[in-house]
Amino acid sequence: MASRHTVLMRLVASAYSIAQKAGMIVRRVIAEGDLGIVEKTCATDLQTKADRLVQMSICSSLARKFPKLTIIGEEDLPPEEVDQELIEDGQWEEILKQPCPSQYSDIKEEDLVVWVDPLDGTKEYTEGLLDNVTVLIGIAYEGKAIAGIINQPYYNYQNNEKEELREHRNEAKAGPDAVLGRTIWGILGLGAFGFQLKEVPAGKHIITTTRSHNSKLVTDCVTAMNPDDVLRVGGAGNKIIQLIEGKASAYVFASPGCKKWDTCAPEVILHAVGGKLTDVHGNALQYNKE
Ligand code: AMP
Ligand code: MG
Ligand code: MG
Repeated sequence: MASRHTVLMRLVASAYSIAQKAGMIVRRVIAEGDLGIVEKTCATDLQTKADRLVQMSICSSLARKFPKLTIIGEEDLPPEEVDQELIEDGQWEEILKQPCPSQYSDIKEEDLVVWVDPLDGTKEYTEGLLDNVTVLIGIAYEGKAIAGIINQPYYNYQNNEKEELREHRNEAKAGPDAVLGRTIWGILGLGAFGFQLKEVPAGKHIITTTRSHNSKLVTDCVTAMNPDDVLRVGGAGNKIIQLIEGKASAYVFASPGCKKWDTCAPEVILHAVGGKLTDVHGNALQYNKE
């Protein structure tokens, strides 16, 4: 029997559950203590066991349910049988209660491209800056990012440095009952959910940029914008979270390095709340499978 839900809403509802499972895997690898770090192109371009397991989990779980999707993941992995334990079959029912934006109601599975960053902020993950890490699942149609899911496995986690900063700013502590991890999701034309939208204090101009992939050009560009403050944190997903939660006014990174799996899901969340993400010339990014 055909489902009464559209392909897009079923895909987003499934991707939400898959992203939550991904967050659990990211936490489990840390808890087990063996990160299995591999250098990809250089010492700041790393892959861990979590990057590998999460990519297998997300791509296999999606492909099993939606066999005609195009799925593009960051990591180059040898083809191998995926452990059944990594497969997530659930779908988040709250998402299925939402209406599908009418312009997307006839989309077919084969028209969608899914961009997967199994672990964004790997360098920071290996350094214990765990709240910088996100899992990104972006969904594109006709070259445009239209839906996105971001899991932040260590939301509410505090390292010592962070705690001091929080006290300094007089912010509430998460407390022992706080749930670790959260999932933010959004669809253009519907909205973005799973966080509290905030603006930076009026008159403040705060720029967020890379902490692990810096260069003279990156720094010169940020300096030329004459910001009141610069927030250097890891992860493209995490920097978009800084924007939507009012910690920074702009994310500036005048360098190659970010890939489409880094920007697809974050772009949707940003656009759904009225922000804008472009290349360095101000052009929209294209997410076609080619
Ligand atoms: P960052 O802001 O440094 O955390 O970078 C955001 C995303 O882009 C991460 O997924 C990085 O791995 C990626 N990235 C940015 N610059 C580079 C680079 N020079 N080499 C490899 N990956 C990069
Ligand atoms: Mg990334
Ligand atoms: Mg990654």
